[in-house]
Amino acid sequence: MSTARPGVMQALPADNTRKGEVLEYVFNITESDLGARIISAELRQLTSELKDAAIIVSGGAGCKTKEGFEQCIFPLAESMGKFLGQEAMVGASRLAVESGFTTRSHQVGQTGQTVKPRVYVAVGISGAVQHLTGMQNSDIILAINKDPNARIFKVADFGIVGNLEEIVPSLTKELNSQGA
Ligand SMILES: Cc1cc2nc3c(=O)[nH]c(=O)nc-3n(C[C@H](O)[C@H](O)[C@H](O)COP(=O)(O)OP(=O)(O)OC[C@H]3O[C@@H](n4cnc5c(N)ncnc54)[C@H](O)[C@@H]3O)c2cc1C
Repeated sequence: MSTARPGVMQALPADNTRKGEVLEYVFNITESDLGARIISAELRQLTSELKDAAIIVSGGAGCKTKEGFEQCIFPLAESMGKFLGQEAMVGASRLAVESGFTTRSHQVGQTGQTVKPRVYVAVGISGAVQHLTGMQNSDIILAINKDPNARIFKVADFGIVGNLEEIVPSLTKELNSQGA
């Protein structure tokens, strides 16, 4: 048996010409066989929209506070979506989620969601390997970070080095004026 996380590979059309043989086995696994005790089992539904989004604007710890995150990331996502004519969604690094800036359903990365949008914007995200795992296959990556040596720039197609508190509002304003 194998399992795969959503979005980690490209789905190919089924080859209906191949035939397989179904062999039925009955497994009688008890808790003592497992060496563990099952306390409960639950089915969790992942938010599917983020992994299917064409545009994602993600914020990281560089946003500093929940207010900073909300005031920067949401307006930029909205204006980018209007400008490119597709809905944009908000993503986040794990540190942003752990800092309470947004909820876990927005987390991109190894323990979050794997995404492959047309455009991925990383704002105030350093580019830890666990984050890159979830977004490095995006078509176009734009990174905004004040540290010119941030690892995110190694996977970015476009980079802006500077303070996000200045860059993001002016980028949002510019996109709004272009889209108007
Ligand atoms: C088992 C495991 C699983 C993990 N899974 C995930 C995962 O799924 N997703 C994930 O994201 N992480 C994951 N992590 C955590 C990961 O290692 C990093 O800690 C996390 O990604 C860092 O988040 P960040 O880039 O927002 O924060 P930081 O690494 O603190 O980076 C903040 C960045 O913001 C920049 N910055 C600060 N202020 C400004 C400013 N004013 N203007 C511009 N830039 C600024 C800084 O230069 C810095 O590069 C995992 C870790 C482990 C051990």
